[in-house]
Amino acid sequence: MGTETRPNDAVWSIGRLLSWTTEYLGRAGLEEPRLCTELLLAHALGCRKIELYTRFEQIPEDSRRAAFRDLVRRAAAHEPIAYLVGHKEFYSLDFEVSPAVLIPRPETELLVDKVVEHCRGLGDRPVRLLDLGTGSGCIAVAILSRVPQATAVASDVSPEALAVARRNAERHGLGGRVTFIEADGLRLPADIRNGDAEHGRDGGDGFEILVSNPPYVAEREWSSLPPEVREYEPRTALAGGEDGLAFYRWIAAEGHEVLARGGSVWLELGDGQRDAVLELFRVTGRYGMGGCWRDAGRSQDRVVRFIFEKG
Ligand code: GLN
Repeated sequence: MGTETRPNDAVWSIGRLLSWTTEYLGRAGLEEPRLCTELLLAHALGCRKIELYTRFEQIPEDSRRAAFRDLVRRAAAHEPIAYLVGHKEFYSLDFEVSPAVLIPRPETELLVDKVVEHCRGLGDRPVRLLDLGTGSGCIAVAILSRVPQATAVASDVSPEALAVARRNAERHGLGGRVTFIEADGLRLPADIRNGDAEHGRDGGDGFEILVSNPPYVAEREWSSLPPEVREYEPRTALAGGEDGLAFYRWIAAEGHEVLARGGSVWLELGDGQRDAVLELFRVTGRYGMGGCWRDAGRSQDRVVRFIFEKG
């Protein structure tokens, strides 16, 4: 923080820290500078965001203020707030995050919503889902938190991401319903693919649901990503090959190997990718169209569903 605008230290109350920092982070180009400030200050003070407002006049001790200053400096340099505070809210649940995982995005809540709605329509029937490239585990955990008859396999290539995902499942009391597996793609061990005794299934018939928010940023889009994303989030969770479609291509080609007949594939889409993704699944001759949904206030389809019809 610049010294010239700093009045006497004695007046650095929580209220003043909030207003000064909000302006500072706003000038640094952060979106929602007030919210960012509140999250950082609550983190530095070890309190909840809401408590800041009951402590407006208090003056934090020097060590807390020093910790806050350090966080503010890093935020102004575009380090993501969620990494600085170590957690992020998604689907009204709190998730641990680290630079090993993509920060859960609000648009992904639409994907969760659609799968939850679908599962509820199935009644009490047990449902097995595969969350491919689980990252923080937010998709599998959010779905399972709302669908009591569901169990999940959550896969990722990154062991560091899986460790975070595992803690998130445990944190929400779902550790016993998710199997985590380090895997690149859809080549899963047979017992994982077909269900195991632990989950009361021995059917050999695959998953009812394959859900994924795959990496979908095309190479040419990379340089236009915000610095918070480009410089700090895991590239493996974002980069979808030259045209951004590499992972869709590969799920279309191999999804049938893990799906139960009549099961479905639910995917998040990047802007403008719908038609190309529909075509990738259409040409396999294996899938029927299950629907497309756009997020509130946007003209782009964000979520798509394909129904597996023919092996
Ligand atoms: N929505 C993310 C972004 O725009 C991308 C997530 C992804 O590639 N699946 O930064």
